[in-house]
Amino acid sequence: MTDLQPKASHFIGGAYVEDTAGAPIEVIYPATGEVIAVLHAGTSAIVEQAVAAAGAAQAEWAAMTGTERGRVLLKAAALIRERNRELSVLETHDTGKPLQETLVADATSGADALEYFGGLAGSLTGEHIPVGGGDFVYTVREPLGVCLGIGAWNYPTQIACWKAAPALACGNAMIFKPSETTPLCALKIAEILIEAGAPAGLFNVVQGFGETGAMLTGHPGIAKVSLTGSVPTGRKVAAQAAGMMKHVTMELGGKSPLIIFDDADLESAISAAINGNFYSSGQICSNGTRVFVQKGIKEAFLARLAERLGTAVIGDPMDEATNFGPMTTKAQLEIALGYVAKGVAEGARLVTGGERIEREGFWMTPAVFADVTDGMSIAREEIFGPVMSVLDFEGEDEVVARANDTEFGLAGGVFTNDLARAHRVIGRIRAGSCYINTYNLTPVEAPFGGMKASGVGRENSKEAINHYSEVKSVYVCLGKTEAAF
Ligand code: NAD
Repeated sequence: MTDLQPKASHFIGGAYVEDTAGAPIEVIYPATGEVIAVLHAGTSAIVEQAVAAAGAAQAEWAAMTGTERGRVLLKAAALIRERNRELSVLETHDTGKPLQETLVADATSGADALEYFGGLAGSLTGEHIPVGGGDFVYTVREPLGVCLGIGAWNYPTQIACWKAAPALACGNAMIFKPSETTPLCALKIAEILIEAGAPAGLFNVVQGFGETGAMLTGHPGIAKVSLTGSVPTGRKVAAQAAGMMKHVTMELGGKSPLIIFDDADLESAISAAINGNFYSSGQICSNGTRVFVQKGIKEAFLARLAERLGTAVIGDPMDEATNFGPMTTKAQLEIALGYVAKGVAEGARLVTGGERIEREGFWMTPAVFADVTDGMSIAREEIFGPVMSVLDFEGEDEVVARANDTEFGLAGGVFTNDLARAHRVIGRIRAGSCYINTYNLTPVEAPFGGMKASGVGRENSKEAINHYSEVKSVYVCLGKTEAAF
């Protein structure tokens, strides 16, 4: 095995733990197809151990002041920043994403979350509410208990931190189950939190497939489940959690619209379409995969887009000049290539790309379809790969109606130099994360999450506090209490 093989599969109670009775999980480097580590899925014994460790740590952690908790999170953020390169190299092995990306978008984004919520931890307070006659109500924001985070495979470090940072700031403990595809990075976050002073058991990592996720979701010791994953998985996890009346946050998939009016800055709009379709080889939930381009600029847009795609550097993800890497799994590559074939079969025009690259690993070229119509599979279904659909439109009302005609509602963007139109159009888009004249930026200060089938709840920003704590209200009577009889 390579030197990327961790000491053991799980991290529980502040230490690495193994149970080889769990099903093997092969970790594959997407750029070569090589197996770089083998782990084991969490068994029921591992799940019990993790829930017990998290429960014990949570009581200790919640008794600390917010400022003390914040100090630990800030220390962890500093350690992540110090080790950014090492963590980025690991993230690239886990996901195949180019080092050029992982150096700036993964561990650093995790550190942002730990800094932001570490800074907030000491200021999480309730309210004082006068209710007449001298009486008042005060509110207390209490942690939920042990929270479960379940991750997708596209941003393993970021997802672990985006869930852990607000959960821990609020006084909860966390058990994190990474995606079985990318299990390595969260273990490093667990190590770092211990080094930063977190109590043993505060942040635990349990590996596994959906089955382990379901075992954890159904455990009575878990108070809340936060999932990042697909809509079908979200429906299952939310249903299981609802049966036990647990809190949920669901960060799910999308098929988001990016609307480009003919007065837009064309180069910026093309940059947004490239970022929103091909960054991380298109494996981003909020991607603007339905690019609506107003008819007058369609041919200019397509010509310049194809020209710029011709300059993409596809190759070794460890080479910092590379800006387009492999797909993370063979299965996801097959899905994306399957959609390219479907797009052609359903009559869309393949402008460029969409070919498998014949080399070791899971490679394809970025694909752009033009003349896509609303009913085509490539315009309706989430592909989660580098396949852009360009659709033409004429007017504002028409494009808004078509943009909203989807079960998803994760993100949406508009490009125009008409200020009033920009706000008018975004005001009518049914999506949780919207953009004007840019796309796909996710600063920790801003809420992130979806409407409709794309999710429930929000990550990041002060909003996330509401999803990792609950409010107790206390009525205080200063006078006498009377009764009718
Ligand atoms: P997935 O739904 O297949 O798996 C997500 C996670 O859920 C994995 O850890 C998996 O093991 C676990 N899981 C599967 N079945 C489960 C069950 N029954 N109970 C508990 N856990 C279970 O998703 P994926 O293929 O890993 O990721 C891609 C999807 O994630 C895409 O749809 C993408 O849009 C979405 N995503 C959303 C966001 C967001 O923030 N909205 C971010 C990244 C990815």
